[in-house]
Amino acid sequence: MNPYAIPSSDSIDIDNHLKAASQSAESTSLVNTANIPVIGIETTKNTKRKLQKYLLRSVARTLLTDANMLTKAGNKHRTRTCGMHRRKGERNVTIKLNKNPEQSNASIGNTQSCTCLWGCPICYERIAMENAEKILKVIHWAKTNNHFTMMIALTASHKVEMPLEFSERTFKAAWDKFNKSYAWKKFKKDYGVSHFIHNVDITYTLENGWHYHKHLLLILDHDKADVTEAHEKANEILTKLWQHQLKTEGRGASEEHGLYVSDENKSPSDYIAKTGITVDDNGKLQWEMTSNETKDSFNIWSILNAASKGDNHAEKLYLEYVKVMTGKNWMAYGQSGLQKIIEEIELPEPEGDAEQVEEQHHWLKFSDYWWDIVKLSNGDARIIDVAAKTRSIDAIRELLETMRIDLIYANKLSDYYEKFIPIENSVADMRIHDDWTKT
Ligand SMILES: [Zn+2]
Repeated sequence: MNPYAIPSSDSIDIDNHLKAASQSAESTSLVNTANIPVIGIETTKNTKRKLQKYLLRSVARTLLTDANMLTKAGNKHRTRTCGMHRRKGERNVTIKLNKNPEQSNASIGNTQSCTCLWGCPICYERIAMENAEKILKVIHWAKTNNHFTMMIALTASHKVEMPLEFSERTFKAAWDKFNKSYAWKKFKKDYGVSHFIHNVDITYTLENGWHYHKHLLLILDHDKADVTEAHEKANEILTKLWQHQLKTEGRGASEEHGLYVSDENKSPSDYIAKTGITVDDNGKLQWEMTSNETKDSFNIWSILNAASKGDNHAEKLYLEYVKVMTGKNWMAYGQSGLQKIIEEIELPEPEGDAEQVEEQHHWLKFSDYWWDIVKLSNGDARIIDVAAKTRSIDAIRELLETMRIDLIYANKLSDYYEKFIPIENSVADMRIHDDWTKT
C-alpha cells in the first residue's frame, strides 16, 4: 500500500484540506468558515482536480516559508509567493469563471507564477503539459518521416539512507560521462539515432528511499538500422557502458534494471506517461497528480499531500527535494535540431468530440486591500472553491470578511488594515470585472 496515496478527486476531503491549507503554523481559525452559503452548484471532476492543486500549492508556500527556503543565490524561493503577487502591468488580481454554471469552475487571474516545476504543482502541470505537447510533435514527426522510437530507462541502486543530493550528483556525473563516451556516440552513429529526448524522474519508496533516474526517448532512422538489432545492441553495449560509468561514481545498478530498453511494441506515449500526463483517445492531454505512481512508489505530490496532513517525515522529504532540485534541468534534447522540428510541426486536429475545457473570463476584480487579505490568509484555494460553488459575489464578500476577522484574531493585521473597511463598490472594494458583462 502506498501510504502517501492522494485520494482520487472524487473522495478528497476538501473542507479538511482547506482548513489545513489556510492555516499557517501559528494561526487558528476562530470563525466557522463552513457557514458560507453554498447554493448547491455541483462542481465537476475537473474543478475538484484544480482545487486540489491550488490547495497543495498553498501548503507548499507555507512549508517553504516556514523553512525559510532560499535559492542557491540566496533569494527567497519563488514558490513561496507563487500566485500571490499581482502580475506586472495588471491593475487587479481577479477571479475567473467559465460561463456555463453546469460545469462551474474558477481560478485566480493576473498573478505571477513561480515557474518552478520541482516544488509547485500548478507550475509543474503547465510545464509538463507544454513538454508533453512537444514530445507528441517529435513522435508525430518521427512517424511521418519513417523513423522509429526507442525508450530507455537508466537507473541506479539506492538505499533509504542515501540523501537525494548524493543520489542526484553522482547519477548526473555518471550520465554526463555516458553521454560523452565514445561507445554511446558510436551506438548513435551505427543505429542512426538522429535525436533523443531525456528527462529526470524521481520517485520515493519507504523501503529504499529516493529513486533518481532518467528516461530517454531515441529517434532512430529506419533506413540505417533494423529495430530488433538496435534493441539487442542497446541491451548489450549500453548496459555495460552505464554500469561502468556508475561504478566510477561509486554507484551501482542491478544487471537487469540498470539500463532497461522497453520492448519494441511499447507506444512512445508511454514516455509521456512517465511525466504523469496521459493522452486520451482524442489526443487531449491531462495531468493526474498520481498517474505515474505504483503501489509502493510515489511522487513528490503525494509526499506534499502527506505533509499537508501533518506527516513530519513527508515534510522533510518535500523540503529536501525542493532544495536539491530547484534550478536543475528536467527535460532536455540530446541533439540539436529538435527545437526547430518542434517549432515547425503542427499536430493533427484531434478527431471526434474531444471534451473541451470551457474558457474562463475575468469575473470579479479584487482591490489591493482585499487581495492583501487573501494573501495574508494564504486563502486563494478557498476563494476559488467558494467562487466555483456559489458564483455569488456576496458569498465571496462573506468569505473575505471571515478571512479578515480571522486575521484580526490571529494578530496578523496591522492597524491600518484593521480599521479600514472598504466602502461597497468603491475602488477599494471587490467589483464585477468590466469584461464579465460584455462576454
Ligand atoms: Zn508555481
